[in-house]
Amino acid sequence: MNKYIRGYRCTVCGEFFETKEAMMTCPHCGEKGILDVEYDYDALKQVLTKDYFKNNRDYSMWRYFPLMGIEEENIHKMLRIGWTPLVKSYNLSKELGLKELYIKDDGLNPSGSSKDRASGVAVLKAIEAGAKVISCSSTGNAASSCACHAAHMGIPAVIFVPKRAPIGKLTQISLYGATLVVVDGDYKAAFRLSKEAINKYGWYNRNAAINPFMVEGKKTVSLEIAEQLNFKPTDWVVVSVGDGCTVGGVYKGFYELHKLGLIEKVPKILGVQSEGCEPFVKASREKSPLEECEENTLADSIAVGIPRNPLKALRAVENSHGNWISVPDTEIINAMSLLGKTEGIFGEPAAVTSLAGLKKALEKGIISKDESVTIIITGNGLKDPNNAQKAISKPELMEPNINKLDIYLKEKGVI
Ligand SMILES: *Cc1c(COP(=O)(O)O)cnc(C)c1O
Ligand SMILES: [Zn+2]
Repeated sequence: MNKYIRGYRCTVCGEFFETKEAMMTCPHCGEKGILDVEYDYDALKQVLTKDYFKNNRDYSMWRYFPLMGIEEENIHKMLRIGWTPLVKSYNLSKELGLKELYIKDDGLNPSGSSKDRASGVAVLKAIEAGAKVISCSSTGNAASSCACHAAHMGIPAVIFVPKRAPIGKLTQISLYGATLVVVDGDYKAAFRLSKEAINKYGWYNRNAAINPFMVEGKKTVSLEIAEQLNFKPTDWVVVSVGDGCTVGGVYKGFYELHKLGLIEKVPKILGVQSEGCEPFVKASREKSPLEECEENTLADSIAVGIPRNPLKALRAVENSHGNWISVPDTEIINAMSLLGKTEGIFGEPAAVTSLAGLKKALEKGIISKDESVTIIITGNGLKDPNNAQKAISKPELMEPNINKLDIYLKEKGVI
């Protein structure tokens, strides 16, 4: 419970439920009726002033707790999540011919991805609800972050992942001591099994498709971007999209800052998917309802054939006057090495999909070179070393011989 919550609005039927008690989905619309948390913005306006932020020494996402729907009580026991660096680009921006570019490096969160923002909130809500076990299904990052924060707070976690989840993520989940269920199937199958189990055993549900508080965590990335830019965010914010919870959060963060009078305008949002799994891009291109897709991309974190947060994602891009774009896997791999060698930032495939999308949007004139842009790098490259190998050439063994070294260095153009 949080004193600033006013209630929940169903994203499907629009009905408003006035209550401070935690809710999951709309009682009329069932599990498709994902709720949106609404606050008493007039009351928050008195609290969340520019001075409040200036004097706040909590350099983590917890600095925003009045706007996150959580109680303050256990926050100090949590790991530090968020307040990740917003890096001003000098090299990559020059390479792209872009006037102003920032990189939000969310791979530097405790478990290495943006998902920590949602999982931290989930674990606190699970404690508030008195839950004995927390559970979710995930392509890998929500899973590893849920396991991470559950471990830190001493709550058992049961985690469902599809069998293709990369080794780094699988290792994290087990290392954090969670009960890992590797489902012999794709993400859709893992999601279905987790849903059945959560209903059957009454566990706390961290699935972003059901739990409205996940967006409340995810939106802190925008609150940080705005604050780090002195409440003048860039013209565009670019983010990769799988389930749609992240992009929904990115929009909501800016929308609420605007509502609170802290920023003048909401940035345009570019949602990026892989061509191998692009249900949102297809729906926007064909102006048709979202259809189930294959999950055919190496960007495993956004290989989501049935997005579970479609309305929040579609509205985020539309209301921001943004756009959708998709990129082939080859361009994702290229973006991975480009970001590494120009900025020293190593993102996993789904994370650098934002950069691949920016590059294409510049080529197509969707974003112009004199606009300012922030790309969100949502996950750390070390999570998926196998795919990262595709972005590099493997080193050959060197004889310990200075003449051989000389030849090699000349080939490389270093001497
Ligand atoms: C989850 C994830 C995304 C996409 O977020 P959704 O909420 O599923 O749209 C993008 N990149 C990474 C690294 C992720 O883990
Ligand atoms: Zn409803």
